Amino acid sequence: MLGLMQQWPLLCHKILDYAAIQHGSREVVTRSVEGPITRTTYAEIRVRSLKVAQKLARDGFGEGDRIATLAWNTARHIEAWYGTMGIGAVYHTLNPRLFPDQIAWIMNHAEDKALFVDLTFMPIVEKIATQVSSLQKIIVLTDSAHMPDTKLDNVVAYEDWLADADSDFAWKELDENAACGMCYTSGTTGDPKGVLYSHRSNVLHALIAVQPDAMGISSRDTILPVVPMFHANAWGLAHSAPMIGAKLVMPGARMDGEAIYELLDTEKVSFTAAVPTVWLMLLQHLEETGKKLPHLNKVVIGGSACPRAMTEKFQRIYDVEVIHAWGMTEMSPLGSLGSMKPEYAGLEGDAKLDIQEKQGFAPFGVEMKITDDENNDLPWDGETFGRLKVRGPAIASAYYGGAGAEQFDSDNWFDTGDVAHIDPNGYMEITDRAKDVIKSGGEWISTITLENLAVGHPDVAEAAAIGIAHPKWDERPLLVVVAKAGKSPSKDDLLDYLAGKVAKWWLPDDVVFVDEIPHTATGKIQKTTLRDQFRDYSLPGVEAL
Ligand code: AMP
Repeated sequence: MLGLMQQWPLLCHKILDYAAIQHGSREVVTRSVEGPITRTTYAEIRVRSLKVAQKLARDGFGEGDRIATLAWNTARHIEAWYGTMGIGAVYHTLNPRLFPDQIAWIMNHAEDKALFVDLTFMPIVEKIATQVSSLQKIIVLTDSAHMPDTKLDNVVAYEDWLADADSDFAWKELDENAACGMCYTSGTTGDPKGVLYSHRSNVLHALIAVQPDAMGISSRDTILPVVPMFHANAWGLAHSAPMIGAKLVMPGARMDGEAIYELLDTEKVSFTAAVPTVWLMLLQHLEETGKKLPHLNKVVIGGSACPRAMTEKFQRIYDVEVIHAWGMTEMSPLGSLGSMKPEYAGLEGDAKLDIQEKQGFAPFGVEMKITDDENNDLPWDGETFGRLKVRGPAIASAYYGGAGAEQFDSDNWFDTGDVAHIDPNGYMEITDRAKDVIKSGGEWISTITLENLAVGHPDVAEAAAIGIAHPKWDERPLLVVVAKAGKSPSKDDLLDYLAGKVAKWWLPDDVVFVDEIPHTATGKIQKTTLRDQFRDYSLPGVEAL
């Protein structure tokens, strides 16, 4: 027997309709790429998104067409997304931090037909546009006064393009399973792989994200998504903020500590989210200037492991609650968040920080398990680590074009490629990427644990641990360290600091100091490059073996 309830397809433009009706005057503030701070509202964004949809349809684009964006977090970028989804087309976020050739490869793979691009990225587009044969139109997210000179064909300024639209347009009626968004994984090994979101998965993900124990946001919040829309959907915030009618503050092109602080302060931001490297810059700025964060309540930190020292600083010095989160582009992206269940709610000080080092527990909508290499389930005892697998309605069932099929099994479990343990209360802790873990004498050493501990040393800005081939133990850890400006810690300082905090056999065999550690386009430490850099490194004492 079927239920007698209404069919109400979960479509993304319904989020924007809702925001305009219930929260129409709520502001969306942008540090524009042209420079000044601009202000609009959800009601205005809806009207302009309808104009985008109207114009895309007039230009001949339609259902299933991939429409790329190469853009910062701005109100115009949101309009481009919703306008694209509203005709049944698919917004495709491109990461400008990739090499131009990689961007061209991804655009060709996705067969992007049109591109919304910020002024900042025109030099990239000048380089690659002719290599992308599917590309028919380039819309520069600016007005005619700021349009750059270009020799490319079919280029138009966004505001000029919108000028003859009147927004008298109806969103396309669609199946909720229709594709609406696309994002390629950063592809640290092999080619990038395309993740194709549906209207249904985006709407469900937004509902999952706003729950009290997930991001816990409401219409009373002012949200600053520093995490870019081109990095896993700004962790869903471009959908979840309008869904609950929160004021949005979009940082545009500037993510340095000073610029982010200015927005946090002047707009009285209560909630923000970004990767640890961004918060490193902000905390440095606060330390240098002695400024405080009186309005900010909560910061979500993820994308790579949040160091304990960072959580401690935010909470103890600035009275800002840290939510450590884990996710993946393939998961829309939220997979787990570290808010406190009653079992842990009373903890304080170090005991609380111990729990916050973990990446938290899965919200409703994310099923999680850990297995050994033979796919046997492993216990949730907080110690046994294994391959982390997930499934749920906002998790990919395949990659676009069928790549990476081996990561999905017949029961829909997706192998994340991460290694983790889960404690009896469901709190998961990532110990490594499967390909980064150091294998020493048949046992595993967690590089993330070593790195987190090392950055707790007062003279250390950043640290990375990698396995170096070893004739006896297979691999042994090398710790690569960037010292804080003006500081010069020694190898022995570091080893003394780590001693007693990890098992003796986990201690690095050597410590090297470098000026910079390489990062991927999404801000993670680029272990492959680092391993290449130290391929021929010989650990002390090895010659004697
Ligand atoms: P991306 O799809 O670029 O967001 O990358 C996803 C990967 O980032 C995950 O599979 C993890 O390896 C890593 N990651 C994300 N969040 C965390 C976290 N909080 N701690 C450790 N690793 C993380």
